[in-house]
Amino acid sequence: MSSTSGSLPILDSAAGYAPGAAPRITSLLIKPASAVCNLDCTYCFYLDRELDPYADLPHRTMTLETLERLVDTYLFYSYPNSTFAFQGGEPTLAGLPFFEKLVEFEKRYGRDGQNVSNAMQTNGILINEGWCKLFREYNWLIGLSLDGPQDVHDTYRFNKGGQGTWRRVMKTVELMQKEKVEFNILCVLNNINVGRAKDLYKFFRSINVDNIQYIPISEFFPDGSPMPFTITPEQYGKFLLETFELWWPDRRKVRIRFFDNLAEALAGQKPGACTLHETCDSYVVVEYNGDIYPCDFFVEKRWKIGNINTDSWAEIARRQRRFEFAMNKTLPRPECQVCEYENICHGGCPKFRHAQYGRFEDLDYFCEAYKMVYARAIPPLREELKKLFGRSMRPTLQNAMRR
Ligand code: SF4
Ligand code: SF4
Repeated sequence: MSSTSGSLPILDSAAGYAPGAAPRITSLLIKPASAVCNLDCTYCFYLDRELDPYADLPHRTMTLETLERLVDTYLFYSYPNSTFAFQGGEPTLAGLPFFEKLVEFEKRYGRDGQNVSNAMQTNGILINEGWCKLFREYNWLIGLSLDGPQDVHDTYRFNKGGQGTWRRVMKTVELMQKEKVEFNILCVLNNINVGRAKDLYKFFRSINVDNIQYIPISEFFPDGSPMPFTITPEQYGKFLLETFELWWPDRRKVRIRFFDNLAEALAGQKPGACTLHETCDSYVVVEYNGDIYPCDFFVEKRWKIGNINTDSWAEIARRQRRFEFAMNKTLPRPECQVCEYENICHGGCPKFRHAQYGRFEDLDYFCEAYKMVYARAIPPLREELKKLFGRSMRPTLQNAMRR
């Protein structure tokens, strides 16, 4: 990925505060093993990243002291609804006892009436009955990485020995289904599977998966040319159009995150995906040592907001650096200013603006894809929402459609 700095004015110190009321931090993305992983996927954004502030540190696991402080302080700050989402690298490398301790701390520090949710994004390699027991007992929501059938998945997703991981991940799928763990599939769209929308959809349905999130790859060399696995906006647009046609008859029973989020936005809800929010300030990343960053794609020294061992959550929420990052999404683009979808799309994702040439001012790399799919999907989704909710369209589509 290109990593040149954008042109926003940056304060010398991360300790500055933005004036006025600060938007609340509504969820955490916690990296208990930092970017360390037990796989070696060719397209991984985290591998060998020059700007990784912790790249030189071989051992990066969150201590129980940091975990306890994190749970104690965040439960207090976020009452009554608290969300802890774990990601990596590979979060299971922190070990099952680490997560059992997490639940123990949540019980110890949670207050009466407090809703606490836990989620994890995993490659599934280490998952066994013990993990499933924890996930089921405390209703965790698990995201499992699987890129499709074996020939697709094993093109890029290798273990450290260079072998494909499809068979092992499929064992985890079967185990989690047997153990009744709630999970969804995260499928990375790359140059191999992007032309196979129908194959992917049929494959996931054939293994009884009804909740799928497609993530497009956009990684570039420093000169701005795409890496071999990066997909084009046109390919992404066509993939989404084809998937929409496949999904529409199944829409009451299958969840495709892109269309769900779009429907939430049309219904006047805050969508689950930050890419459709007005600014980038709904969640923060917590690194293994308690450092805080505004987005998982920007765990870089220049974007560090604070540290939970030295700063309160209220201070972190008010930091000037957080505000500066949030505003990247609002930098004016002529195309967005006259775009009919601006009030839904809000200029796309700054990661996709910045990825190619390191400029937040650029147009989202996938803009063309969004326009293709919005033109096709928004009219029928609007009609569906009107049928379900009448004029007010208040309840979430997902809940109503899955009744
Ligand atoms: S840069 Fe993209 S992924 Fe990061 S917070 Fe903003 S919208 Fe979300
Ligand atoms: S679809 Fe493209 S032009 Fe329209 S708001 Fe989104 S990024 Fe901007």
